[in-house]
Amino acid sequence: MSTSIEAFQTMVNERNPRFFDPVPFVQKDIDRIYNQEQVTVGMPMGAEIILNALSREHTVAIVGAQLGDEGKGRIVDNKLEQILSIPGMQMAYVVRFQGGSNAGHTVYTPEGRKIPLHQVPSSINEDRAVGIMDSGMVVHMEDLKTEIEDGEAIVGDLRNRLYLSEEAKLVTDLERAEEVINRFKSSGKSGGGTGRGISPTYANDLSRLGTHVKDLMAENWREVYAARYDRYAKEFAVHNYDIATMQVPDLRETRDQKKAVTRNLGSKEEFLDRLDGVRGWYIERDATQPDKPSMIQNTFLMHQEMYNNLNAGVLFEGAQAVGLHHAIGRLPDVTSSDTSINGIAAGTKLWKAQDIREKIGVMKLTYMSSVGSVHMATDLMLPRKAITDESGLTGAQKFGAWVREEAHEYGTTTGRPRDICLLDLEMMRYNIRMGGIEMLAGTHLDIAREDMPIKVCTHYVDSTGQRVAYQPGVEHQENLTPMYEDLPGWDGAAAQKARTFDELPDNAKKFLAFVQAQTSTPITAVTNGPHRDQLVDIPRWELPPKQFQGTDRTL
Ligand code: GDP
Ligand code: MG
Repeated sequence: MSTSIEAFQTMVNERNPRFFDPVPFVQKDIDRIYNQEQVTVGMPMGAEIILNALSREHTVAIVGAQLGDEGKGRIVDNKLEQILSIPGMQMAYVVRFQGGSNAGHTVYTPEGRKIPLHQVPSSINEDRAVGIMDSGMVVHMEDLKTEIEDGEAIVGDLRNRLYLSEEAKLVTDLERAEEVINRFKSSGKSGGGTGRGISPTYANDLSRLGTHVKDLMAENWREVYAARYDRYAKEFAVHNYDIATMQVPDLRETRDQKKAVTRNLGSKEEFLDRLDGVRGWYIERDATQPDKPSMIQNTFLMHQEMYNNLNAGVLFEGAQAVGLHHAIGRLPDVTSSDTSINGIAAGTKLWKAQDIREKIGVMKLTYMSSVGSVHMATDLMLPRKAITDESGLTGAQKFGAWVREEAHEYGTTTGRPRDICLLDLEMMRYNIRMGGIEMLAGTHLDIAREDMPIKVCTHYVDSTGQRVAYQPGVEHQENLTPMYEDLPGWDGAAAQKARTFDELPDNAKKFLAFVQAQTSTPITAVTNGPHRDQLVDIPRWELPPKQFQGTDRTL
């Protein structure tokens, strides 16, 4: 009987082929073990390095490393363009695995046209890219229709280029109204809700009370949703709410009028007729081109194929951020899904974090922005309204006020000024570790000035000066003092001109080196403006492989 490292290595290399096509291995194993007496049990020393290296090539996950709006959408778009330029690469998939219309991702077409996206993945700039809205998402079909119509007006027909999982969790206006009840149940304290029905839909899913896209598309949909309306009406009545007059967001009107617009949920017939209209739109859309596959698919089956097509890249697009993760975010003001790279498992039902080669966290480099009711520890506490008089502001606050205007940090739908916070490296280290992030893409390198230092928080101390670790949840930072370093700024306009690392201002290079060192995480791309070409890629260094030996971080 023999055992060998080679046999172990083979076992590791065969893990994925065996998963996708186990049958040929049955006789092979019998032969190896019983005829050739290769009996390999256990593992050699250092084998963890081999196990960690197991991933599918041309796969990238992109998640927010801070508090959202870091620029994930445009990084997805940039990475997509790069992957599609690899020789032999035929196509790429962009998979949204969580969240819903609470996300807002901005990409620009190569011609400079802005495309705001909510539920549709940031794939629509590329003809050879297919967007997948997967089962982990919570999808409102009426908003999606609006988004598809808007997207198609800019980039043309999305049929064949956009798929929706039949198992995605369905948001209707009932779940949106449920947020109102939840606010009542939590005596007004249920933080953070966007009114878009995200949290009730996820909660219902966990309670096995939710419905899915396929339920709306089924023959008996009207019965199902009529009964659902009746049950909601009863529960709302308990709380003294008349279901028909409950207010829910009207996102098409909100978009058109550029301010938050609501509508009545309406009577049962009105509610059902609205659903019917939307449902009919999807059916009609399919019927006009019967030779093309329906947009609504069993995406689990698509993933099996996708995994094995090595001429296709696969990108996973996170929404919100690790700092807004339902469990490890800035509680209580968090979103309701797993926003980390680990969320890809539940959100796709096939891919796991270890399958993915590049695990990228997106961060704003020179500051962080935040929306929601709570204040982060490094919040500059600028007034939550337009600043007309800067006389009472500290130096850092003046920088924040400038950032807010320069980077236009105002809510896309509400127009509300966002909170501006200083870069919190202590939180970043936590989010990187817990989010499964292994590389960073830094955005907004152009948001800097030569005459203003950039303050970054390196850690927190308690009243005795003792360092206290970051613990998720704003309450845990309450009595702590963030410790800051002032790093020299640079000319943002000069930074914006750079297309290579060498062309960046020296202080920008040093700042990047500091962030990389402090987070122990390589920065592999930097953006210096919102447009597609405003990108500085930091290519891998060409060093002899033996210099990397024994450092598992590089695997
Ligand atoms: P996401 O939610 O993470 O996809 O980010 P959003 O698109 O909601 O917000 C990021 C905002 O920053 C958008 O308005 C982008 O156009 C803009 N943006 C992205 N990268 C840069 C950059 O490098 N510099 C500047 N000035 N703006 C950027
Ligand atoms: Mg956003």
